[in-house]
Amino acid sequence: MTKTWVYRFQDVAEAENAVGGDWEDVRGLLGGKGANLGEMSRLGVPVPPGFTITTEACNEYITGGGTLPAGLLDQVAAALAAIEDQTGKRFGDPANPLLVSCRSGAKFSMPGMMDTVLNIGLNDVVVKGLAELSGDERFAYDSYRRLVQMFGSVVLGYKDELFEHVLTQYRQKRGVSTDAELSVEDLREIVERFRRIAAGFPDDPKEQLRLAVEAVFRSWNGKRAIDYRNAAGIAHDLGTAVNIQVMVFGNLGEDSATGVAMSRDGATGENEIEGDYLINAQGEDVVAGIRATKDLRILHEEMPQTYEELSDISRKLEAHYREMQDMEFTVERGRLWILQTRDGKRTAQAAVRIAVDMAHEGLITRAEAVQRVTPEQIDFFLHPQLAAESRQEAIAEGRLLGTGLNVSPGAAVGVVAFDPDLAERWNEDGREVLLVRPETKPDDVHGMIAAEGILTSRGGRTSHAALVARQFGKPAVVGMEGLEIEPDNHLMRLGNLQIAEGDWVSIDGTTGEVFLGRLGTFVPDLSDESLVRLLGWADEFRRLGVRANADYPVDAQRAREYGAQGIGLCRTEHMFFEEDRLPIVQSMIMASTPAERRDALDELLPLQRADFLGLFEAMDGLPVIIRLMDPPLHEFLPAWEKLVDEVADRKIRLRAADSLETLNESLSQLEHTERLVAAVERLREANPMLGLRGVRLSVIYPEITRMQVRAIVEAACDAVEAGIVVEPEIMIPLSVDAGELAWVGDVVRGEAATVLAERGREVDYKIGTMIETPRAAITAAALAETAEFFSFGTNDLTQTTFAISRDDAEASFLTYYLTLGVIAENPFATLDDAGVGTLIKMAVAGGRDTREDLEVGICGEHGGEPKSIALCHQYGLDYVSCSPFRVPVARLAAAHAALDE
Ligand code: PEP
Ligand code: MG
Repeated sequence: MTKTWVYRFQDVAEAENAVGGDWEDVRGLLGGKGANLGEMSRLGVPVPPGFTITTEACNEYITGGGTLPAGLLDQVAAALAAIEDQTGKRFGDPANPLLVSCRSGAKFSMPGMMDTVLNIGLNDVVVKGLAELSGDERFAYDSYRRLVQMFGSVVLGYKDELFEHVLTQYRQKRGVSTDAELSVEDLREIVERFRRIAAGFPDDPKEQLRLAVEAVFRSWNGKRAIDYRNAAGIAHDLGTAVNIQVMVFGNLGEDSATGVAMSRDGATGENEIEGDYLINAQGEDVVAGIRATKDLRILHEEMPQTYEELSDISRKLEAHYREMQDMEFTVERGRLWILQTRDGKRTAQAAVRIAVDMAHEGLITRAEAVQRVTPEQIDFFLHPQLAAESRQEAIAEGRLLGTGLNVSPGAAVGVVAFDPDLAERWNEDGREVLLVRPETKPDDVHGMIAAEGILTSRGGRTSHAALVARQFGKPAVVGMEGLEIEPDNHLMRLGNLQIAEGDWVSIDGTTGEVFLGRLGTFVPDLSDESLVRLLGWADEFRRLGVRANADYPVDAQRAREYGAQGIGLCRTEHMFFEEDRLPIVQSMIMASTPAERRDALDELLPLQRADFLGLFEAMDGLPVIIRLMDPPLHEFLPAWEKLVDEVADRKIRLRAADSLETLNESLSQLEHTERLVAAVERLREANPMLGLRGVRLSVIYPEITRMQVRAIVEAACDAVEAGIVVEPEIMIPLSVDAGELAWVGDVVRGEAATVLAERGREVDYKIGTMIETPRAAITAAALAETAEFFSFGTNDLTQTTFAISRDDAEASFLTYYLTLGVIAENPFATLDDAGVGTLIKMAVAGGRDTREDLEVGICGEHGGEPKSIALCHQYGLDYVSCSPFRVPVARLAAAHAALDE
């Protein structure tokens, strides 16, 4: 028995049986569009009759080197005959012709990336029959010219420009601006010219259909489809289904229309249908953005009954799919047809709002609401917006160029590139680029991904540019009137103003404003009501705690506002780099006697104490991990080469001194620089990351550790006296040995006890260590004898596990490894489960063996990365710690990890 390659829409239940009842598998077999068409017919939604050729047939066609699978054409013929019976029309019969569309439809929506051919079934004879039957000759010839044009470009591979050129010639000849104004005679001539261009166009409708199906199959492996799948993370072996469907016509007069409707507002998430439509037009006119579309709200006035019916269907489909829907519809002489429905694309704001609203409406659960929002969408809330002052200034200076449609929010600032390849190149060179196009096409996607944002002169809310920009979270403004783009001349005009390729332009995808120049931007706060609610729900589901890596009170404050439950890492040395402190730190390093070093430390003490007090205040009631100094000391000193130059320079000045005063001053400056040189030479190491740093500093210079511990404990006492609840955790970096850690642990405890005795206070604090080397992980059980907590420093742990330098590996070979596919992921970005993960699990187990209540977290960069967060959840860590700006993302990712369990 041959395989079933074809399912009629109404036979969706058979497809469901064939795959064992799982709807995901039905989507895999029939594609998203095909499955939805079947589902809609089952729901009684008015869908034009048709059938789906399975993705299996596509895969068979591709692996068979371009041969249609056996039995497919017979099954297509049978399905077509069934439609003929259903409609009473016949394929290729001039007396009552049936026309069909042939559309791609993969499991996951890839808008516009693959091919479509409409009006299949027309030829020189059938067109006459259609003209007679419809009583509209213009419509018949217009349909025919569309078929020849689409078939010519999509199936036969002729450049679309060849056809567009003919249309432009005719428009110019007649002095009209749209194709709709061309006469029947014009269209007849145009068809003739099109047929001369599209040599090989078959007259036989069955042959048209067969070739169109094959073209759709082939388009699965077209360049733009592959680019899109790479960017969207869609597997390449899924294949596309093909949907053959009776044509219904939105271009049969003023009582006909075609459009796109979203069941909720895709930009804001508001629960109100929105969309675009055109009276007397065919579907691709709307999506292509070639004609100015009307807002769906106007349909309410123009065709009130249709609007009501559409609203009902929209609600029905939403209730069925429990998701926002994006529907294509056509009104043919007053009768509404739904051509397809799919989950609607939406902005991040809309995604959050829709998820929260739907949970409130009882359509989905809170857990589902949390799962429906991606960490990337949360991240989007932290995208830059135009700074108000900078905007005002630009307006005052007359640099507001105008306003287009605000289709994808956020501000984007970049140099203008009119060509997607150029945008990609400039982006690779590290430039910020704004892709500017008359409208975008699927071929432009790589440039859109490379750009900061997108600006077009044409197109509507559901244009290609708008959909793709939203999906990838790129700010976009489309349909900017008056903007004339001349890609060939590398410039655009707006009235008298000329803007050249490479000039700076700023756009605001939230308002639609477009500015000349490079405006300032800022990152918004996360006070969006729906977002706050959603993150609150996420908090109820997650098991992992979320802390922040923060060095300053302002950062700690922000982190707390974003929902951080403490500080997981304060890198104390960052405070040493401040201008007023660096000279003190340097004298501490250069000190030749303990007394000299003590003087410098005495100067640093109050500064550090104030820093820590600020952190305790910001984190009142929450744990604060303060790490003892970590980096090699030479990092606080100037580079040796620079100092040598300076010595030479100072010597010249000394010789030129013309008074005793300048002589003395020059002498002392020279001495200072020479001492710096000596210190740098003394501290020089061939491999400083494996040298005198981390815990080793505390062993060699315990007085530095004592100063830092004193600062922490005194600040804690001050805080307690001010009524603040403190939970200090003192962290020792880079331990590799239990003896070394125990030694430093004693120093810490000793100094803390001294301070507490001086102050006459009891303050609970913890001592812990970072696990940053394989040896630490392996000997974790012994380390836990001193450490009351572990924090995985996965930046160093990755570096030491892989023996790959975290500082320069990317530039030297790691990126190349990734390009070659030698490794799948950058281990400094996503935690390496196999290697580093094994060490983490080993350390968690070892540490908890010794100390059951050992607190375990992560503070490397991976702590803010969703995939790594899921791993941390699996490893049973207590918390992740990440930059304040990643905290909301981590909260959601941690909830996903728990819910996915
Ligand atoms: C780490 O190594 O992961 C870490 C957090 O410490 P640092 O990046 O400061 O070395
Ligand atoms: Mg480290």
